[in-house]
Amino acid sequence: MARIAYVDGRFVPISTPAIAIEDRGLQFAHGVYEVIKAVGGRLLDLDRHLDRLERSLAAIDCPPPTSRAALVLLLEELLRRNRLAEAVLYLQVSRGTAPRNHVWADGLEPNLVVTVRPARFPTPSEQREGVRVLTLPDERWARCDIKSIALLPNVLAKQRAAAAGCREAWLVDPDGVVTEGASSNAWIVDREGVLRTHPLGPAILGGVTRDVVLELARAEGIAVAERPFTLEEVRAAREAFLTSTTSLVLPVTEIDGRPVANGRPGETTRRLAARYAGRCGLAAAVTG
Ligand code: PMP
Repeated sequence: MARIAYVDGRFVPISTPAIAIEDRGLQFAHGVYEVIKAVGGRLLDLDRHLDRLERSLAAIDCPPPTSRAALVLLLEELLRRNRLAEAVLYLQVSRGTAPRNHVWADGLEPNLVVTVRPARFPTPSEQREGVRVLTLPDERWARCDIKSIALLPNVLAKQRAAAAGCREAWLVDPDGVVTEGASSNAWIVDREGVLRTHPLGPAILGGVTRDVVLELARAEGIAVAERPFTLEEVRAAREAFLTSTTSLVLPVTEIDGRPVANGRPGETTRRLAARYAGRCGLAAAVTG
């Protein structure tokens, strides 16, 4: 069955040419996006994703393309039409179509595109064995809290990581602080046993998974600190993992070619991975 996309008010086969040449997303990367997973036909953490979308839109001076209620209905309809039980929805709002000019008119209507694909969550062996990470300089801009479609530094970093046989790039700022991954949030359990991740702010994207995992960790009684950690602290860490909507809670067992601790997923990581997978209705290969 051909995959169905939603483009500005119409459901169309994904191969349909449908984007205007002068879309501001295409010409200026003037747009924002969300990635939402569906399990068993249900969109997970939808309110959190739509709250973040509204924040991102406000940050780029873009009105919502539809009401929130209409958006929910069309996401559900698109999921239904694609007949996928485990799916990932990609939603993109650009600032609209107009003759190319940096400055735009206030009344310009945004463009909305949504696509769906079968979910490809980490394999059982990736969850069991963990994945490799390559560290690279964080070369992004000063508003990483906006989920902008301008992802050039992220895709370049991720490609370099992939070329080095790594699943993710961890981005390091000029002070040696690991901000986050190219498309995920970064976590360690430090030498004192404290679970650490970078605090919210302009240096990172506030992941929906990050929020949920913080809540799960606190509910589990795990000591947590939203405090930056350095590359040096990563090298001394007891455990490391990454989180995102599609990577779930994924153990990191090697960084820059060196094992994290004994090179096996740690206990806290395994516990959180199992809790998170359970909450999503997904079978966890990693048990707590
Ligand atoms: N940071 C960055 C830079 C990302 O691109 C993503 C995923 N889009 C995340 C963090 C994780 O966010 P989420 O948990 O909402 O998928």
